[in-house]
Amino acid sequence: MFDTLSDRLGGVFDKLRGRGALNEQDVRDAMREVRIALLEADVALPVARRFIDDVTEKAVGQSVLRSVTPGQQVVKIVNDALVEMLGGGDGGGEAVGLDLNAAPPVVIMMVGLQGSGKTTSTAKLAKLIKEKHGKKAMMASLDVNRPAAQEQLKVLGEQVGVATLPIIPGQQPVDIATRALNAAKLQAVDVLLLDTAGRLHVDQALMEEMKAVSAISAPKEILLVVDSLTGQDAVNVAQSFAGQVSLTGVILTRMDGDARGGAALSMRAVTGKPIKFAGTGEKMDALEPFHPARVANRILGMGDIVSMVEKAAATIEVEDAEKLAQRMAKGQFDMNDLRMQLKQMQNMGGLGMLAGMMPGMKKAKAAMAASGMDDRVLLRMDAIIGSMTPKERAKPELLNAKRKIRIANGSGTQVQDVNKLIKMHQEMERAMKQIKKMGGLKGLAAMFG
Ligand code: GDP
Ligand code: MG
Repeated sequence: MFDTLSDRLGGVFDKLRGRGALNEQDVRDAMREVRIALLEADVALPVARRFIDDVTEKAVGQSVLRSVTPGQQVVKIVNDALVEMLGGGDGGGEAVGLDLNAAPPVVIMMVGLQGSGKTTSTAKLAKLIKEKHGKKAMMASLDVNRPAAQEQLKVLGEQVGVATLPIIPGQQPVDIATRALNAAKLQAVDVLLLDTAGRLHVDQALMEEMKAVSAISAPKEILLVVDSLTGQDAVNVAQSFAGQVSLTGVILTRMDGDARGGAALSMRAVTGKPIKFAGTGEKMDALEPFHPARVANRILGMGDIVSMVEKAAATIEVEDAEKLAQRMAKGQFDMNDLRMQLKQMQNMGGLGMLAGMMPGMKKAKAAMAASGMDDRVLLRMDAIIGSMTPKERAKPELLNAKRKIRIANGSGTQVQDVNKLIKMHQEMERAMKQIKKMGGLKGLAAMFG
């Protein structure tokens, strides 16, 4: 989704990084290009302007320009400012989760325009609350405008195994909300999700309805759902909603599409609230916590093999790195090497950092994401390799069904976890062979440098 922005910024920063010394004019020139890149990505003008002013002020400081690596320092300043712009201050760069800290039933109200993804996100969120928070959820649709809107939520509720309030035709939103609250209390529901009606445009009737529902249900969270594909419009919509109700957070949907990223970059600034989740598909599990630090890294670091090599060199033991480089040069990659790589991934800030940085890793990472893997998985994979014999580590092809069961038992995992790890190893081994063909890591670095 951030491909174009990432490409543009990548170009600017490659120029900066490659230079030994920088002067103020170099930085100002680079910032002009950054500004154009942000605007092309649909970042709201005032947001882009403030960003550039901030960064320029920090980056033309003498301590930066006189340092040994001014280019890299400027990139770091931009990275930090991006994290901040994405709402990094709210959660220390990590995702800001739901606040469910109140007497049950805790009410979450979903607001937004028609078609933004409210109903879908309501059901995704209910699933997450049930599965990740282990709480009893209930959903109610207050959408009396669109025919079959309430039916839609009911069907999704059945899919995710969360109860929906029975539909009474003709009932109005505030009355439905009152009935939902009573039902939630009676049924000892922990979290009640209210899916409100949307409109095609922001209008006063919609705002009044939202306020009335909010007044009687006292939501702990009011989440604004916006479609990231609508770019600048999404920003305007967010601004009008933020001016009318006290939002607690934003869900950006269709982040799986080719949004240019500007909506995400502007959202924190215009609403004053964190983006809590990103919708990444139509399926019920396509909802991800929004990590500002990871997104910023992705915008700046995508495909940047040189910085990956630099980072790898800085974070792993020098001998390990040399040993690994030698083995990679020969196209060798066994379970010991994979284990070393996993350790590096942790040192480099987890899987998020590695997205797209290395040939082969992008696919491995996508496969990991698809199977619901996250950074905790790194530890589990380490345990699996730890339960292999030295022989098995050196020759993974030895791993037959019997050995896999023993390893799964030994590491407290399932055979399917062992299989996933073996598959990942194969993918990476293949990638290493490709790197060998290109002349090893040095050859790659030279190509990109
Ligand atoms: P509402 O009018 O705001 O309630 O919007 P809906 O929840 O009915 O969503 C409208 C359409 O967008 C549906 O077809 C959804 O499947 C789709 N949709 C919602 N969120 C996402 C998302 O994150 N990614 C993709 N690709 N589609 C989504
Ligand atoms: Mg809807």
